[in-house]
Amino acid sequence: MAAIDGLPPLRDVIQRHGLDARKALGQNFLLDLNLTQKIARTAGPLDGVTVIEVGPGPGGLTRAILALGAKKVIAIERDARCLPALAEIADHYPGRLDVIEGDALKTPFDTLVTDGSPVRIIANLPYNVGTQLLVNWLLPETWPPLYQSLTLMFQREVGLRIVARADNNHYGRLGVLCGWRTQAHMAFDVSPQAFTPPPKVTSSVVHLEPIRNPIPCSAADLEKVTMAAFGQRRKMLRQSVKSIGGEALLARADIDPQRRAETLSVEEFCRLANCL
Ligand code: SAM
Repeated sequence: MAAIDGLPPLRDVIQRHGLDARKALGQNFLLDLNLTQKIARTAGPLDGVTVIEVGPGPGGLTRAILALGAKKVIAIERDARCLPALAEIADHYPGRLDVIEGDALKTPFDTLVTDGSPVRIIANLPYNVGTQLLVNWLLPETWPPLYQSLTLMFQREVGLRIVARADNNHYGRLGVLCGWRTQAHMAFDVSPQAFTPPPKVTSSVVHLEPIRNPIPCSAADLEKVTMAAFGQRRKMLRQSVKSIGGEALLARADIDPQRRAETLSVEEFCRLANCL
């Protein structure tokens, strides 16, 4: 492991603080600081940036973000057992790491950063809450959102759904939502062996940047049409969107009723939503 900061190796930190990984908290830790630096670098330049990190655990990714020059990290961790290990990192980088003990799903992200600095969100997310957090970050009332980018680790399967667009097997509600408000790309895969303990599946780091002026559309209406259309993805749209307007709706949106959900572009889904 490369010494990036003079702090002890993560394996020692985990042992000293008794941080045996808990499945219920989605704990699969990254101990290789080269890899955590690669994830942090994917976010883009960090100078002068405040990074919000969800689930720092023993702090491998946190250390990489700080070593790469982030002005500040605000880290939200649910597991109180990790706090002493994170306090050691905070001591090493005075004034640059704030740790909030709590559930990220209940955290009001909009009020976390008050100094006007640019914000990036970086996280090796707990798998059980990752998708919900992403959806929350994509649906704030005001847009563009508080952050300049999201750099997130997911199970590869979820990553594929995030970046999938029309005519792709992985395209669905999540792809439409991400494509509506962001530019999203797969950065790289991470094998199970990179984690302690190793999860069952390959993971992927996905990078998303908000589109400043997405197609005007109500998120609730977009949700309604994607839910109906992808609810029966193998059926023709005339059948799958029957409950929300059927052929009349498709005619208003100028969409061929014989098409299937996965052939519609994000723009066409927005058009359908706007015709509801
Ligand atoms: N970032 C560390 C790393 O890369 O090694 C740990 C990643 S581990 C996959 C997920 C972390 O999220 C764990 O530390 C877990 O305790 C924390 N966590 C789980 N659910 C959470 C929640 N709802 N809010 C905040 N943190 C949570």
